[in-house]
Amino acid sequence: MMAIDTLSSDELCAAIAELDRCSYNHDQWLESLMGTLVCALPPDERDIDDNPHRKCRLGQWYYSEAKQPLALSNRPGFAELGTAHERMHCYAADMLRSTAAGERVTIQQYQRFIAALKNMRLEIAALRQVMEDALQAVDPLTGVPGRFGLLSRLREQQALVERCAQSCCVAMMDLDHFKAVNDAFGHAAGDHVLKACTHHMARGLRPYDQLFRYGGEEFVVVMPETTIEEGLAIIDRLRGELAGVPQDIGSDEPVHVTASFGVTRLEPGVLVETSIARADEALYAAKAAGRNRALVWDPAMDGHQPASSRSA
Ligand code: GH3
Ligand code: MG
Ligand code: MG
Repeated sequence: MMAIDTLSSDELCAAIAELDRCSYNHDQWLESLMGTLVCALPPDERDIDDNPHRKCRLGQWYYSEAKQPLALSNRPGFAELGTAHERMHCYAADMLRSTAAGERVTIQQYQRFIAALKNMRLEIAALRQVMEDALQAVDPLTGVPGRFGLLSRLREQQALVERCAQSCCVAMMDLDHFKAVNDAFGHAAGDHVLKACTHHMARGLRPYDQLFRYGGEEFVVVMPETTIEEGLAIIDRLRGELAGVPQDIGSDEPVHVTASFGVTRLEPGVLVETSIARADEALYAAKAAGRNRALVWDPAMDGHQPASSRSA
């Protein structure tokens, strides 16, 4: 069976967003169903046709080959959601048929519908949680979330920046001359240093900041409710402390590892991907300016060589 983490982060985000839209759609559907049952309004034809569970938004998504990602449909929770959803629509159709025949809906009919509705909501919440967890999956080497969860975290923060005028800082970090550490002391020692640097950063951040492993020895720090001045001060303090810590990798001489940082803030109307690219440009500028420093992104850096194409 394919695991859910075979989905890309974009597919996971799209599936979560689709589940949210389906839940909203079901809330509206429930309102009109109640209108029909309580006020004898005409029913929605789709609710009394064959297979009503295939006609709502969830049904269309769930049973569509094109939209249904294979790795998702093979999950046990996905099958349970289908069953719970079908049962709920079936019980709703049953109540509608009684009303159409001029009969009163019995308490048993109503209670089993409500139970099925609650069950379907639980199944949606459970599946959503599985996908959220996959997005936040931790990187096994460093114990911090991998790149997967970064975009969804940033999009949450971007919404707060847009709607609540909050300020959120993003910092991109890359260890300096890390290849030389591997070359001199071996890959295992490099791994050890990578873990020590991650723990140093994670310990020094505030509880609501979050560290992500972006790639090999590159990390991203998300600092909510933080002005650019505060963000730079936090990052620069951590950078200075990291440079002062001797790394214990069994060498005769103590080894000091430094890192460079690019810092920016999420701006209203600017895509989070662009903000990441800006932090990357500032990181490149920090490397070019001599490493072991943190620079704030400046529009003058726009279009400079991105860190991904940097040479050591
Ligand atoms: P720069 O100052 O320009 O960043 O120099 P650098 O040597 O750090 O260059 P770059 O960032 O391009 O290279 C990263 C190196 O990090 C290459 C790779 O050998 C090493 N690396 C990446 N991931 C891991 C890992 O998981 N473990 C170990 N030990 N090394 C890693
Ligand atoms: Mg590096
Ligand atoms: Mg690198």
